[in-house]
Amino acid sequence: MRIDKLLANSGYGSRKEVKQLLKQGAVEVDGKKAKNGSVHVNPESEEVTVLGEVLEYREFIYLLMNKPQGVISATVDDMHETVIDLLEMEDAVRDPFPVGRLDKDTEGLILLTNDGKFSHALTSPKKGVKKTYEATIDQEVTEADVNTFRKGVVLDDGYQTKPAQLIRKDPAAEVALTITEGKFHQVKRMFEAVGKKVLYLKRVEIGSLALDESLEPGEYRDMTKEEVEMLF
Ligand code: URA
Repeated sequence: MRIDKLLANSGYGSRKEVKQLLKQGAVEVDGKKAKNGSVHVNPESEEVTVLGEVLEYREFIYLLMNKPQGVISATVDDMHETVIDLLEMEDAVRDPFPVGRLDKDTEGLILLTNDGKFSHALTSPKKGVKKTYEATIDQEVTEADVNTFRKGVVLDDGYQTKPAQLIRKDPAAEVALTITEGKFHQVKRMFEAVGKKVLYLKRVEIGSLALDESLEPGEYRDMTKEEVEMLF
């Protein structure tokens, strides 16, 4: 790839800033100064340094975010802030997108990546990846609801949901729900089907990956290699 693109993708500034770095002789490829942005490099086999520091090339990025309420899980939106708006420039330039969706008023675990295969592995209905939510309901959840959810509930459009695990907490309006699919507004519609309303919703797990509780709403971090491999 072109060296100016590689540098911009790796967080060394805008195309203009990168051009400046190249011009001032700050960039070397295998020990030789590269001054022209159109030079092609192979980041896997050639060593690129910027001001003497070795550039760490990441083919894909994988981010784990604690999504706050009020933010849209899309890449662009005319009206509202998106999860992409919460990213540092050096991550946003890699063009990540959210893996699946959370409603604007839902908070919690959301992953972002620019790796289409990773996203597909987590969202394809065939894979049936478990997602666990904590919710506050407008009234007590009953043992009958637990049984209904276990068998599958019929949503407003006639769709019968797959078996889901509903756990009542104390007080009984607080629950944890694990589902293996991701229909539009699924959790809210499942509770509507039993005459109840979700007042608060937070996703806490995707597969075996839990929300990193040290992240404040709106904060994110890179996923570790082990976390990525665990979910793939
Ligand atoms: N189910 C919902 O209803 N909303 C979400 O954001 C996620 C699951």
